[in-house]
Amino acid sequence: MNLPPDPRDPTVSLTFPVPPTRLNTAVSAPDLSAANRSTEPYDPFSNGHGFTPNAVAPAQVSSDALWLIFNADSLLLTPALELPATRPEGVQGDIYLGQQDGRQVWAARLAELPADGFKFHRLRGLYGRISDALWLLGGYGYQIVEWDRTHHYCGYCATPTVRGDSERVRRCPNCGLSVYPRLAPAVMVLLTRMHQGRPQILLCRSPQFPPGMYSANAGFVEPSETVEHAAHREMKEETNLDIKNLRYFDSQPWPFPHSLMLAFTAEYVSPEEGGGEIVPQPGEIEEARWFFHDELPQLPGRASISRRLIESVVGEIREGE
Ligand SMILES: [Zn+2]
Repeated sequence: MNLPPDPRDPTVSLTFPVPPTRLNTAVSAPDLSAANRSTEPYDPFSNGHGFTPNAVAPAQVSSDALWLIFNADSLLLTPALELPATRPEGVQGDIYLGQQDGRQVWAARLAELPADGFKFHRLRGLYGRISDALWLLGGYGYQIVEWDRTHHYCGYCATPTVRGDSERVRRCPNCGLSVYPRLAPAVMVLLTRMHQGRPQILLCRSPQFPPGMYSANAGFVEPSETVEHAAHREMKEETNLDIKNLRYFDSQPWPFPHSLMLAFTAEYVSPEEGGGEIVPQPGEIEEARWFFHDELPQLPGRASISRRLIESVVGEIREGE
């Protein structure tokens, strides 16, 4: 049996973004420049956001508790885009999430809109309209509510499951199966090369993208793979290109419904060095193209790490020219 070469690269380096603002601060545009990227460890749940997750529900709901109310992937907000001050009538499946700046945070589901001008807003579309902290908290709440809602029965013996008392788990009282909230890790790679003496980046178009939009190549990590191996495999599968000097850029939770995106940069291995030529994978990649920094196509929205990855690399290219 021939195993592929181990793609793990000893040069992988770790960098982390500056912790974003808290719930109660004004929304500000993210600072994308490399100079403003902190080397402090980034912990969205306790460093900067003021949120501490906790699966152990308090005996009583406090009067100043925050309520994250969902209808599918939409969050209930007041006309001023704030969380409701009290638990609306008719909510179901109350689940305790933890504490935000010392206040209890609860999440639940609601089928019908309450009165008083409340509206459900799709989380994706709220990025940049509410604080980063509330957006991340909403993403966390949505993932927990969805996991809870979709695991009411044991997947093995179909017995109704029960929530754990001391940790975030649903257990089957009949066969003992434990189900924890799951994450699907995915990798994204932005490939660079030198062409006619100038740097270029490789951007790809998925058939699902809006017309004219391109992004960095991405795909899910398969069982038993390292993320580094997945980065090499995805690029080979989807573009037939080989990569080297893989470097970690940053990660982003993506709660639609439960991904964690790990972003990397890498360099192109030319055919002279033994690498492949571009061959887009049918059904996955409509087009893969090299771009100079001054001829970029439409890019993904600012909520996604792909935009930040591309702007960071392009910023470095501009500084170097
Ligand atoms: Zn069971």
